[in-house]
Amino acid sequence: MTPGAFDRLVALLKRLPGIGEKSARRMAFFFIQQPQTFASDFIEALNDAKRNIRQCSLCGTITDTDPCPICSDPMRDRTSVLVVETVEDLVNIEGTGVFGGVYHVLGERVSPLTGDDLSEKALSFLQKHLRDLNVREVIVATNPRIEGELTYHAIMDALDGFDEVRITKLACGLPIGGSIEFADRVTLHAALDARVEIRRGSMSEKR
Ligand SMILES: [Zn+2]
Repeated sequence: MTPGAFDRLVALLKRLPGIGEKSARRMAFFFIQQPQTFASDFIEALNDAKRNIRQCSLCGTITDTDPCPICSDPMRDRTSVLVVETVEDLVNIEGTGVFGGVYHVLGERVSPLTGDDLSEKALSFLQKHLRDLNVREVIVATNPRIEGELTYHAIMDALDGFDEVRITKLACGLPIGGSIEFADRVTLHAALDARVEIRRGSMSEKR
């Protein structure tokens, strides 16, 4: 027996992150109570997003235009690169308005559970970005969790050849086990301001 339209909708909604059976059913009910135009608008927005959103070829974030608005903004400081695990982390830090440099999105993290390491592709993408920018400071903004710590070490390994670059890391303020994605503006500001110097970098001495 093929499932009915309602069950099919619920099954699809359940595939969204963080959505269980109950929430999926609630969303499905909401959908069917809306006018037809809502469904059409929703489908159009989904199709549009799927068609037009791509990865920035410089920093790895998602964008309608390549390079993304941040990478192509002439006012951004290209000597300072903030490395994050995910696009969500970028969006939250950018939302605080306290960072004037550019970003690099890894798009993956080291996972002790699955044994996943950062891929060769992700590491060489990061290295290429830093080389192309002639960067002076790399701020590592991985999450204060075990995955973030392991990811941080993988990034440090990838920065091995960049002796002239100053390396800093987001500091206090972020609770252990917390996440950048959900941190508030004040906390992120403090973490960025009080970033810890990991390596001074020969280039910063010339300033
Ligand atoms: Zn970009």
